[in-house]
Amino acid sequence: MTLTRTTCPYCGVGCGVLAGADGTIKGDPDHPANFGRLCSKGSALGETTDLEGRLLHPKVDGQRADWDSALDLVASKFSATIAEHGPDSLAFYASGQLLTEDYYVANKLMKGFIGSANIDTNSRLCMASSVAGHKRAFGTDTVPGTYADLELADVVVLVGSNLAWCHPVLYQRIAAAKAARPHMRVVNVDPRRTASTDLADMHLAIAPDGDVALFNGLLAHLADHDLIDQNFAARHVNGVAETIAAARATDTQGSGLSAQELAAFYALWAGHEKVVTVYSQGVNQSSCGTDKVNAILNCHLATGRIGKPGMGPFSATGQPNAMGGREVGGLANMLANHLELGEPDHRHAVQEFWNSPTICTTPGLKAIDLFEACAGGQIKALWVMSTNPAVSMPDSNHVARAIANVPFVVTSDIMERTDTTDLAHVCLPALGWGEKDGTVTNSERRISRQRSFLPPPGSARADWRIISDVAARMGFGAAFDYRGPADVFAEYIALDAATAQFPRDLDLSIFADADYATLVPTQWPRNDHRFFADGRFYHSDGKARMVPVVAPPQLRPRFQLNTGRNRDQWHTMTRTGKAPRLGAHLAEPYVELHPRDADALTAAPGDLIRLENAQGEVILRALVTSRVAPGQLFAPMHWTRLTSSNGVINRMTAPVSDPISGQPALKAGAVTASVFKAKWYGFVASAQALTPHAPYAAVSRTVTGWQVELAGRRVPLDWVAEARALTGEAEGTASIQTDPATGAVRVAFQVEGRITALMFISSAPVVLSRTAAIACIGTDIAPLAALAGRTPTDQPDPGATVCACFQVGRNTLLGAVANGAHSVTALGDATCAGTNCGSCKPELAALLEGTTVPMAAE
Ligand code: SF4
Repeated sequence: MTLTRTTCPYCGVGCGVLAGADGTIKGDPDHPANFGRLCSKGSALGETTDLEGRLLHPKVDGQRADWDSALDLVASKFSATIAEHGPDSLAFYASGQLLTEDYYVANKLMKGFIGSANIDTNSRLCMASSVAGHKRAFGTDTVPGTYADLELADVVVLVGSNLAWCHPVLYQRIAAAKAARPHMRVVNVDPRRTASTDLADMHLAIAPDGDVALFNGLLAHLADHDLIDQNFAARHVNGVAETIAAARATDTQGSGLSAQELAAFYALWAGHEKVVTVYSQGVNQSSCGTDKVNAILNCHLATGRIGKPGMGPFSATGQPNAMGGREVGGLANMLANHLELGEPDHRHAVQEFWNSPTICTTPGLKAIDLFEACAGGQIKALWVMSTNPAVSMPDSNHVARAIANVPFVVTSDIMERTDTTDLAHVCLPALGWGEKDGTVTNSERRISRQRSFLPPPGSARADWRIISDVAARMGFGAAFDYRGPADVFAEYIALDAATAQFPRDLDLSIFADADYATLVPTQWPRNDHRFFADGRFYHSDGKARMVPVVAPPQLRPRFQLNTGRNRDQWHTMTRTGKAPRLGAHLAEPYVELHPRDADALTAAPGDLIRLENAQGEVILRALVTSRVAPGQLFAPMHWTRLTSSNGVINRMTAPVSDPISGQPALKAGAVTASVFKAKWYGFVASAQALTPHAPYAAVSRTVTGWQVELAGRRVPLDWVAEARALTGEAEGTASIQTDPATGAVRVAFQVEGRITALMFISSAPVVLSRTAAIACIGTDIAPLAALAGRTPTDQPDPGATVCACFQVGRNTLLGAVANGAHSVTALGDATCAGTNCGSCKPELAALLEGTTVPMAAE
């Protein structure tokens, strides 16, 4: 089997992957991002490339259509909309999942040919505050450092960044560096104790949005102790005095930390020159995200700790190609190639290069405003590319209604059904990972190839081609006459050369003579380059700017909702949800709440919690843990209306955004909480696909089919009929067990001697080995034995999955601990857990410490 050298499509680490059409997946030992490592998500890529659920042909109004008629319709509707309502009545909403070539073409069509800047992207939800902070400080959107700096640092500060789950391979690189250099210190600044905290020497459980107070306090400390690099600051930085004055005026109590904690952190930061401050969504996704970014950058600029080995600020991007999208200008307030929309010379140069009939002159609508304009009727035609805003945008029920309000909605996606494609008039099938070709840029400015190793399914097409096909039908064919992604990439590089007279950081000349087919992962402007070591920045005077920032007032709602990622899932689970071993890690939408809050609510582990606010309500499984502080709640963002009945967490997030970057504040919702008192709780394992029908329902894939966790308030009169309705099992022979004393009901269905579905109902959260029930599906085990919780092979119950790669459960690990495995390494030797991708090592360590909080319903 020939393996193809490609790049992982998930997080911004951008790991190299060797992939084969037979499902083989290996880490690429030669890729400088991962040197052969992969995390659990990357390792399971081979399980996500099947065609189940894929959109294989265009659809118009829900009916299969041919490409010509679908594209003709899209182009004619767009042209008519522009003619009648003007270019700003059209909007594109793109994605950090798109490849750079796709992004480049979409941006070119909207800004140069349609003549609007109404192209925004889900990167607005991810990185916009970093972009705005970089531009304020440096004059350009520049990530100064490289991954190697994280390994070379003496102090790594993780701010609002659960790298262990969200950028696992980068976390593993830091962990390996710390093991090799034990004097290295790791600080974790996060309101929650996360898997990343397990590596930290210091955990600062900061108050939500307390970052500005923390870093302003650090800057004041540096100034008060004569630790400002006066030479660097005087020669290369503006705004020093006023920024220090603003920092000194800050009340550091707003950080939520004690004086001792602050003093210890400030001494550590000040005492080591080689400091890297890594930050991601906990900083960016805030109503003051840009100020938080600048509060961090201020400290590095004041001390000259930037651009040199082992030091500097480092923004870890969430998505695989958020950086590529920024480079080609795929946001509503950018032009292309790091050129400025507000600069007439830049616009003229781009228009001339594109030979385009027009060029937008003013910024377009940022994500929240864009969907508000959909709701308000200003947007008459919308194209959503490779993303699912009906779930992922804040106030997602409102956004879903806003999309439904647009007269003409187009989606290009790999999946037939998502919450957003369900709202579209035209659905265009796009190529997925493994089928498409292009480039992505990772968090350290490294451009790598994604390469196809699978045939195109059905009539699906590459995104760049779909966009070009529409452009051609709108009369712009000559400018979109690409033969392949290599042509697009070459044009992108040529635009960089054609605009080299405008001083900026982006310099792609290293790719000018590159062979696209054999392109090796390469950083711009060149490998291992660090910006700003020479003190040259990109404001017009060549200096950087420290920006005075003010800490926001601390809000203290009874419950503050924080949202984020799970270790083994990606975004709305359209791909990772296909891999049973990934779903086995945390199979339900849950809410972490502190034991004290659980007591106050009289909630026990496994109960269901209802969260409510002005936007809506959700019902989630209670995960009682001291990892969150009292008054704070954490819930994952992955569940959709297709996988849960009441688990879409962005129903609860408010459409509040940072006034500078437009990035939504997805981590600071105010909610009320109460126990959802169900009359019955259930678990179903089935060979057939399940849909979420019940006040609480959460569906996920299993190794034998599907499972759904359930709860309801109306007790059915006929449980067998209810089980048939829930499982879709119309024909099977039913066996039922009931216990009127406890309210327990168990139903098994058999077809031709094989178990097709099992349902377990209880008046309390169902206590059952899910693994055993799931293992019975498709076997000839006797129904009553299956209902008794026996496995077909009478193997011991492994418990809830901890290690996704080797499917090692918690019970298996506890057994190994009882037999003398008292270290992560020993657990690996005994069970293999943690010996492949290593993503579960923090959980193994926590289990050994006895601090593991199991999923409520195991
Ligand atoms: Fe993919 Fe994991 Fe690497 Fe991120 S860390 S790029 S998800 S393999």
